Amino acid sequence: MGIDNPQSSQSAEPPRIYLVGGAVRDRLLGLPVVDRDWVVVGATQEDMVARGFEPLPGDFPVFRHPETGEEYALARRETKTGSGYHGFSVETGPDVTLEEDLARRDLTINAMAEDEQGNIIDPFNGREDLELGLLRHVTPAWVEDPVRMLRIARFAARFAPWGFRVAHGTHGLMKKMVASGELAHLQGARVRQEMEKALMTDRPWRFFQVLHACGALEQLFPVLARGLPQEAHDGDDQAAPWQVLSRAVEADAALPLRLVGILQYAVDANHPAEQLSAWLALDRSTSALLREWLDLRARLESASFRNADDWLDLLPLFRQRGEALEQLLSLSMPELAADFLPRLEMARQAAGRVRGEELRQQGWEGRALGEELRRRRKEALTSALENTT
Ligand code: ATP
Ligand code: MG
Repeated sequence: MGIDNPQSSQSAEPPRIYLVGGAVRDRLLGLPVVDRDWVVVGATQEDMVARGFEPLPGDFPVFRHPETGEEYALARRETKTGSGYHGFSVETGPDVTLEEDLARRDLTINAMAEDEQGNIIDPFNGREDLELGLLRHVTPAWVEDPVRMLRIARFAARFAPWGFRVAHGTHGLMKKMVASGELAHLQGARVRQEMEKALMTDRPWRFFQVLHACGALEQLFPVLARGLPQEAHDGDDQAAPWQVLSRAVEADAALPLRLVGILQYAVDANHPAEQLSAWLALDRSTSALLREWLDLRARLESASFRNADDWLDLLPLFRQRGEALEQLLSLSMPELAADFLPRLEMARQAAGRVRGEELRQQGWEGRALGEELRRRRKEALTSALENTT
């Protein structure tokens, strides 16, 4: 380990190293452990550097192990000084105990440590909560960081197959946090990050249900919340957003499809897609997909697609993200998709047979070329539509 030389430590005891957090939890659940976080007790920052650890930039003393590249944090205790999740004062030092470090963690199942002999240190009964399937806060200080709201919802989604649910008292704290207005301090990009992790689980709707049950969804995504019943009954599975997500899981759909699949229910005239995309800091392609999907949905509601002009107006929409739009249609309106997609394919082929290049070779150019192209495509589409109806 290379950290067991007491000479350069200011404390009498040699530093102790513990595996903490998600790695301990996931191993007890029998899940593969991907990233491991470590806590070092009884060491100073100088001790760490002297042992070859590389200090990482950030608010807290965290170091990278020179060989494994894993992260080692000095044990710390946190006390709140202001609002929002940067309003903490953090103390580190050789006197901070493992129990103090575990006490600042969010959930009991995340507040266990494992020492170098493989003993589990579990002052908050995380192991019991793992067995009971309970997401429970460690201390009432839980309400001080709104990111925890997103995390608990994400864990509810991730561990839903094990039947995990929010503990009663924790649900009370969630409501308290909502009432305190603390959620206003959440950055949209952070909301998106946690939401993305939840969306890629097999029960993504649990994330939104847990946020909805305590009133947080109303603050984060008011339009989505308004369309849903507050209590999570089994019957809620019938809610359109959950159906879309469940089809997305079934189809093993990629993240952008899941994001747009749910976000389509979070916009209305007063909460436009552009505003939502900006707040969540969606990447350009995902925000374009959201915009295009909403455009397609609106056109499907207003046009019949029985005449060639409807198709000529629609086809350019499919130029860049056509495949994703088709998938979104299947996920959101499967019955309509079954009827519409074959007709779309037919229209595409009919229009595609008229090529601009050929017209150019025949001497057409500029605006006249564009008009002739549309005229001939309309002709081709009209005859294709006559043959199919
Ligand atoms: P994942 O499996 O998604 O990595 P994780 O629980 O390991 O889940 P990390 O973000 O890697 O999550 O954080 C590591 C540990 O740090 C957590 O297990 C928890 O103990 C603690 N932690 C992380 N974020 C918070 C927070 N906002 N408040 C309190 N403790 C936190
Ligand atoms: Mg982790």
